[in-house]
Amino acid sequence: MNDDTVSKYVASVEPTSALFVAGQWTSTGATFEVEDPATGAVIASVSDATAAEAVTAVDAAHDAFDRWRRTPPRERSEMLRRAHELMLADADRLVTLIMAENGKSESDARGEVTYAADFFRWFAEETVRTDGAYGESPGGGVRNIVTHRPVGVAALVTPWNFPAAMITRKIAPALAAGCTVVLKPAAETPLTALAIARLLTEAGVPAGVVNIVPTLDAPAVVTAWLEDPRVRKISFTGSTNVGRVLLRQAADRVVNSSMELGGNAPFVVTDDADLDAAVKGAMTAKFRNGGQACTAANRFYVHQDIADAFTARLGAAVEALTVGPAADSESDIGPLISARALAKTEQLVETAVAGGAKVAHRSGVPEGLTGHFHPAVVLTDVEPDAGIVQEEIFGPVAPIVRWRTDAEVIDYVNSSEFGLAAYVFAGNLQRALRIAEAMDAGMIGVNRGLVSDPSAPFGGVKQSGLGREGAREGLNEFTEAQYFSVDWSE
Ligand code: NAD
Repeated sequence: MNDDTVSKYVASVEPTSALFVAGQWTSTGATFEVEDPATGAVIASVSDATAAEAVTAVDAAHDAFDRWRRTPPRERSEMLRRAHELMLADADRLVTLIMAENGKSESDARGEVTYAADFFRWFAEETVRTDGAYGESPGGGVRNIVTHRPVGVAALVTPWNFPAAMITRKIAPALAAGCTVVLKPAAETPLTALAIARLLTEAGVPAGVVNIVPTLDAPAVVTAWLEDPRVRKISFTGSTNVGRVLLRQAADRVVNSSMELGGNAPFVVTDDADLDAAVKGAMTAKFRNGGQACTAANRFYVHQDIADAFTARLGAAVEALTVGPAADSESDIGPLISARALAKTEQLVETAVAGGAKVAHRSGVPEGLTGHFHPAVVLTDVEPDAGIVQEEIFGPVAPIVRWRTDAEVIDYVNSSEFGLAAYVFAGNLQRALRIAEAMDAGMIGVNRGLVSDPSAPFGGVKQSGLGREGAREGLNEFTEAQYFSVDWSE
C-alpha cells in the first residue's frame, strides 16, 4: 500500500473532525492534528472536546441507558454480531487507518482488526447467556434470588497501541451487560475509534448508547466524567501512573473501577526447551507491534546452558527483520509512536550499555526517514537488576539475563511490581507448569508467545491492574449483583 492509498482511505472516513455524541457527528471550535508516526505528516484534524462536551456525552448516555438495558438480550446480541460482521467486511479500511495513525505494520494491523472484531462476536454470544441464582437461605424459609444488572453509564479510556482492540474489548462487554458508554480514545489514534462508532450505528446500536469524545485534554474530559454522579463505572487501559491518578479520583465517589495497566513480562527459557519454538514465541512476544504491547516480553531469562544457542538463533531472526513505514509492505516493524517514545527507548539501551550490556544483534533502520524508527535489538550481558529489565521498555529491545536454577529464575520473575503477562518455554510440561504456577502474573503463555484471546480473562496482578477483560469475567466488570430476599413460606 502506498502513501496515496493511505491518504485516500483516511480521507474516506467522513467526517473525521467530529465527536460522536447522541448519534450525531458534532464539531467543537477547536481541533487537534493526528500524525502518521512514520512520516510526521498530518493525516487528519479532529474536534477537540472540552469538559462541556464530556458532560453532553454523559447526558446522551444517561438518556439512552434505561431503554438500552431493557432491550431484549437477543436484540442487543444481534447488533454486536452485526458489528463483528461489519468490522470484518470493512477490515481493509480499518487496517489502513490503524497503519496510518498508529504506524504498525500491515500484518500487525490486520491481526489487530480480526482480534478486535472477535470481541463483538464473543460478547454477542455472551449477551444471551444471562445468569443468576436461586437458593434457600440456610436458616430455611427465605429464598435468595440473585440477578446481575448493568452498572450504568460507563466511562471508557483507551491507549493508542491497539486503537481498535482496546476499544472493542470494552464496548462489547459494556453493551452486552446493558451499559451505555462514553469513550475517550487516545489523542494519537482517534480515527479508528470514530470509524468503530460509525460501524456500530450501521449495526443498529441506537443513538446515545455509544459516545466518542476525542480530546487533547484528557484530564479535563475524564475528570468531568468521574465527578458526574451519573457515571457509575470507569474502565481504563493505559499506564500504571495514569491508572493510579484515576483510581484516586474514582475514590471520591467510589466509582466502580477496572484498570488494565502496564506490564513487564518475563520470558523464561529452560535448558530443555525446544529452541526453535522458544525463538518463534520470542519473536511474537517481543516484536509484535514493535514491542509496543502491554504483554510484550520485556526481560528474557535464559538458562545459562542454552543462552548462547538461544541468543544466536534469536539474533538471526532479529537481523532478518525489516523496520520501516507501515505503507511499505516489506515492513515487519513500524516506527515507535512518538519522538518521546523513541528517546526513552534509546535512553534505556544507552544506560544498559553503560552498565555493561552488549548490543549483540540488531536489525537495520531505514535512512532518510523522519519517523520515530528504532532498530530491533538483542542485548546480552544484562544484569538482573538493570534498569532495562525493571522498567516497561515499550520498544523492540530484547535484554537477555542468564540464570542457573528454577528457584533463582522465579525470584527474578517475581521481583517486579508488575504482573500482567509472562511466558515460559520448557521441554518438560510439569516443569513448565511448576514455574508458571509460581509466577506472579495474570496471564502465562506456556510454550506460546501470545496470550490474548477474547474467550480468556485478560488482566494483571500487582500494579498491572484490577479486573479482567474478555471472557465471562469481562462482562461481569460491567454488572453488579442484586439479590432479592423473599419469604413466601406460609
Ligand atoms: P497513558 O496512560 O499515557 O494513556 C492512556 C489513556 O489515558 C489515553 O487515552 C490518555 O489520553 C489518557 N490519559 C492520560 N493522562 C490522563 C489523565 N491524567 N487523566 C485521564 N486520562 C488520561 O498510556 P499510553 O501511553 O497511551 O499506553 C501505554 C501504556 O498502556 C503502557 O503502560 C501499556 O502497558 C498500557 N497498556 C495496558 C494494557 C492492558 O491491557 N493492561 C493494554 C494496552 C496498553
